[in-house]
Amino acid sequence: MASTEAELPRAVRKGPPITVTCECGQRRDLKYGEQWRCEGCGRRFDTRKIPLEEYAAIRRTQVRYRLFPILSGLLLLVAVILFWIEGRAFSALIAVAFLLASWSMFGRPFFRSRYRKAISKKVPTWTIKAD
Ligand SMILES: [Zn+2]
Repeated sequence: MASTEAELPRAVRKGPPITVTCECGQRRDLKYGEQWRCEGCGRRFDTRKIPLEEYAAIRRTQVRYRLFPILSGLLLLVAVILFWIEGRAFSALIAVAFLLASWSMFGRPFFRSRYRKAISKKVPTWTIKAD
């Protein structure tokens, strides 16, 4: 079991939980590769029946959208430092305040809705048959 887990790509091992709903109504959040035996009726589910590539694509979308705010924050920081070095600290502060304000007013809502759309498009519902 441990050896097969190691074969899974990192993107998959760290991916979002998979919600499995049994025919009897039991639900469980599983990681990719996990198996679950339903407590209610004893059906067994194997998340490995989900196509690996489809699941990895979801994870990639998630990472990309999380990375973007971090990268823009870093860019902003670099810009501020450059301004600072040039002896224009005051201009830098104004620029940052302006950027932060416009980000929270326009950037973030726009970004959030894009993220939700991207994720909802990418999250398919798989039907895994119980063993
Ligand atoms: Zn069940």
